[in-house]
Amino acid sequence: MPELSEVIAALDALWPRERAEQWDAVGTVCGDVGSPGARVERVLFAVDPVQEVADEAVELGAQLLVTHHPLYLRGTTTVAADTFKGRVVHTLIRNGVALHVAHTNADTADPGVSDALAGALDLRVLGPLVPDPSDSAGRRGLGRICELPRPMRLSELAVWAAERLPVTAQGIRAAGEPDRTVRTIAVCGGSGDGLFAEVRAAGVDAYLTADLRHHPASEAREHSPLALLDAAHFATEWPWCEQAAAQLDEISDRHGWDLRTHVSRAVTDPWTAHAASGAASTDSAATPAFPASGRSDSDELTPGAPN
Ligand SMILES: [Zn+2]
Repeated sequence: MPELSEVIAALDALWPRERAEQWDAVGTVCGDVGSPGARVERVLFAVDPVQEVADEAVELGAQLLVTHHPLYLRGTTTVAADTFKGRVVHTLIRNGVALHVAHTNADTADPGVSDALAGALDLRVLGPLVPDPSDSAGRRGLGRICELPRPMRLSELAVWAAERLPVTAQGIRAAGEPDRTVRTIAVCGGSGDGLFAEVRAAGVDAYLTADLRHHPASEAREHSPLALLDAAHFATEWPWCEQAAAQLDEISDRHGWDLRTHVSRAVTDPWTAHAASGAASTDSAATPAFPASGRSDSDELTPGAPN
């Protein structure tokens, strides 16, 4: 059984902490890393360090939990167990589970979060969407430019993606002509609506990411015929957990560590329900319909409403 510090060193080699964004908080959050007695037999991978996942790690008998999202992104003054994050810390420490985070350093890695997303969608990766200039091989960076296994209509592609990503309440939202043929696509795991300029420069037919907000999406649609696919943030990043577990398995085999790696199947997307409006579907260009409100035509939106 390897020491905790040896496994953490292996994770740091996969996702060097110095490659994280300046604002990010990656690395080991809790764990008795310096102690020679701290050994690892089981490792759990998950997207979010929430209580459900901490409990799962304990139940599994894991000594190490690796998550994509940080537990603490900003400073804190308490880890008291009556705060929800403090309770996670107490659960983990009390049960001898270390927590390690690989966030933006995993996004841009080779392979990274978007490679796993592309793999889940059976896409062929052509290269990074935003290449890391420090990588002479041109493989690291944010997002990936990909080719579909065969040309698909946008409506078909939306269903294809929904069938291959974890089931979430949101499913897949699409924007664009349903019959438009898609051959090339950019993907970015997590919130990717800051990358429209790069997506347009890549000249792809579609862009799949998460957390597409009204204004960036609306402006992107006005700008070009680029089709948009919006998945749940969790769903776009979960495939990385399987990829990361496989990477650690390979390292374990090489060192004869005999680690047992597990991937959490807890759906930690915060959204739990979805009601489709009227007859809207990816196959029909549904005419927008509004519920009868009794308003007259002269009624306007409330002035000063937040945008
Ligand atoms: Zn994320």
